[in-house]
Amino acid sequence: MKVVLPSNGLLGTKWVDLREPTFEDLRKTQHATEDEYLFKYEFIKGLCEFDDTKITMDDVQYIYEVSATAVTFNTVTMSIKCRSCGTKITSDFMFGESEMNVRTLDKDARKCSKVIEGVEYNFHILSAADGVAIHTYALDDEDSERMIEEATVCRVLGYDITDASIEKVRNLPIALYVACFLYIKANWHGMDIKKEVECPNCGTKHTMQIHLDSTWVKMDLPTFIAQFAAVRTCLDFKSFLKFTVPEFQNFAAYLNAEAKKKNSNG
Ligand SMILES: [Zn+2]
Repeated sequence: MKVVLPSNGLLGTKWVDLREPTFEDLRKTQHATEDEYLFKYEFIKGLCEFDDTKITMDDVQYIYEVSATAVTFNTVTMSIKCRSCGTKITSDFMFGESEMNVRTLDKDARKCSKVIEGVEYNFHILSAADGVAIHTYALDDEDSERMIEEATVCRVLGYDITDASIEKVRNLPIALYVACFLYIKANWHGMDIKKEVECPNCGTKHTMQIHLDSTWVKMDLPTFIAQFAAVRTCLDFKSFLKFTVPEFQNFAAYLNAEAKKKNSNG
């Protein structure tokens, strides 16, 4: 499936050829890293080929979301607080029934500089490779959140992630530090997934925004085994692993129908 990227080819790649995840891909996620970004990066790397310096970090999230839509076992239950009366509103989200818009990146996004305290700084859109460098740097560290932040500022400003540049970043004017994150936010590109919900108490309408995390494609062992158990009488494990989720659902439904036919005949 050809997936056009929301970065609009800004770093060099306009689209990727993505295949649907199979049970084999889902099985691998059981032993994957805890880091959200690296998890998604590894997951999509198994599903399509790309040069990670030519797609953006936001593209990684986007490709991940497109592939997660093919795995429909998961329903996410979300809740927000009503802004009028404070009632907790809970709603299930399923792909296909909610609004999805894609926000693409502006061609001029790459050229951005800012003069702070007399020094000119250039800002850069983060590539998928930048994301790997940032998250690998902070991996397995107690202080990972702060490290991710500092490494992100390094890469936005175009510095390599070294002890020296981390030290430099720590001493930057706070306005510049903030500007780096505003720059990322302003240039955010990807899938905007929303759902309209109504407060059951006062009827106020709300827009829920959904961010897809790794749980969408993580299948725990019991679920995995239960899926295989449904087809094991006519499918060996190796063949089962090659199925995509929709293929599997069709196949299981067919087996069910056949079993019912047999029962009613006999
Ligand atoms: Zn309300």
